[in-house]
Amino acid sequence: MHTLLLQDPTEENIEKAAAIIKNGGLVVMPTETVYGLGADALNKTAVTNVYKAKGRPMDNPLIVHLAKAEDAEKYAYTSPLFYKLAEKFMPGPLTVIMPKKDIVPLEVTCGLDTVALRVPSNEIAHKLIEKSGCPIAAPSANLSGKPSPTTFDHVVTDMYGRVDAILDGGPCTVGLESTVIILKGDGAEILRPGKITYEDLREIIPYITVNQAVKNQCVDAKPASPGMKYRHYAPKSPVVLVYGEDEKVIEFFRNKQQCENCGILCFDEDKPRILPNNALTFGKHDDEDTQAHELFQKLRCFDVMSVDKIYARVPSENGVGLAVYNRLIRAAGFEIINV
Ligand code: AMP
Ligand code: MG
Repeated sequence: MHTLLLQDPTEENIEKAAAIIKNGGLVVMPTETVYGLGADALNKTAVTNVYKAKGRPMDNPLIVHLAKAEDAEKYAYTSPLFYKLAEKFMPGPLTVIMPKKDIVPLEVTCGLDTVALRVPSNEIAHKLIEKSGCPIAAPSANLSGKPSPTTFDHVVTDMYGRVDAILDGGPCTVGLESTVIILKGDGAEILRPGKITYEDLREIIPYITVNQAVKNQCVDAKPASPGMKYRHYAPKSPVVLVYGEDEKVIEFFRNKQQCENCGILCFDEDKPRILPNNALTFGKHDDEDTQAHELFQKLRCFDVMSVDKIYARVPSENGVGLAVYNRLIRAAGFEIINV
């Protein structure tokens, strides 16, 4: 397939991309979280092609992106709680799952009777949805299982030849996918942590819980969110998390660097204390926003370094740190060494 590269997000290029979406094609679009692989959410064939282009399992549903929160009414049975959340967090990196209306094809939800809705704040994504005149179903624009793409180069690597167009919007500001919650009466459950944190949500929803698969391996054959059961975000080489006191982790890294062809993913403060070879940083130990921004970018860098294994620092679970931890532990297939 020929892929049109639209490297300047001019009105004209966004219109070209919108015309492709309207005609049932696939467009990679920038959002504030990660790049998304978009199609007309109401076009069953286009939606099915999204799964094919990514190699995504057909039981892992897609998030539907809207231009404004009020449009949720057309696709889901909303509630006053949804509008309270929308007032505070939309547009922005929050996805809300609610009972779906019949207009949403089962191809989008993989047969579930709920639909996941989000209103991206990225200006280019917003214009693209408006100009397309339809809701856009879009998973992250990576090949299934790989780290999500946060730059134009990442999506060209994964999606060139698999989609009709790629719209460049520069590096994504957040760097991790949206927070996903499911509404349950007056309360809600976090199914995937993100930039909108548990603490942020608790201000609006007093009864908010975190699904246990956020931090643990999912053993449920039918989890609350189908995506929980798949291996995700993984670079080519295996990742192992290294947990322990600072001194001990540093000593562990130095030893491994001397006897293995390994990569090290560490905090900024660690870098001067270990060997320089194949060591990448992803922010200071208490700077969870930078860690979120850098994580996928750095995991992808290891792919070109050809290391045999990657040892990584364990991020804190505070605030956005929970989202960083959630992605990294999945990238590691839940392998942690205690030192
Ligand atoms: P991605 O498209 O890569 O950002 O992943 C979207 C995530 O949202 C996946 O983990 C899906 O399983 C989850 N998801 C989407 N729709 C639903 C839904 N209706 N119910 C539960 N989880 C959903
Ligand atoms: Mg994804």
